[in-house]
Amino acid sequence: MEFKAVKNLRMKVQSETGQLHVSVPLNTSYATIERFVGSHTVWIDRQLEKNALHPKVARITDAELLVEAQQLAEYWQERLEVSASRIRLRKMKTRWGVCNINTRIITINSELKKYPERCLEYVIVHELAHLRVAAHKKEFWSVVESVLPDYKLFRAMLK
Ligand SMILES: [Zn+2]
Repeated sequence: MEFKAVKNLRMKVQSETGQLHVSVPLNTSYATIERFVGSHTVWIDRQLEKNALHPKVARITDAELLVEAQQLAEYWQERLEVSASRIRLRKMKTRWGVCNINTRIITINSELKKYPERCLEYVIVHELAHLRVAAHKKEFWSVVESVLPDYKLFRAMLK
């Protein structure tokens, strides 16, 4: 919150950080601010949701994303008792990740740099889980859920 020489109370959700910014005219009482924010909770929720679902700004570079993906893969390979031969990045139009079960190469969509790290973690777990169960059948989702009980949240963010 920032007291400023503005005419009206204004709220904005910053798209990079997801933070709520409130600009308040200098002579506004806290009671008024509270009432204003309180009457806009639905709007705030909607903005935060929109921001979480449609991030636009990359939080890291491709090189950093690759390092992050490789570190996550290292951790999750051990936990899932599988081993990929290589983790690589590619900009893809329709998929967040691809696992070639013959070569055991996992390809990660570089667009994931615009999403929270936990989304990348979900994609890594998902692709590694394919080394255990190839198809998207019930056993596959059980493997994913057994290590990431809240995976549906991150899957929904990537829709
Ligand atoms: Zn899959």
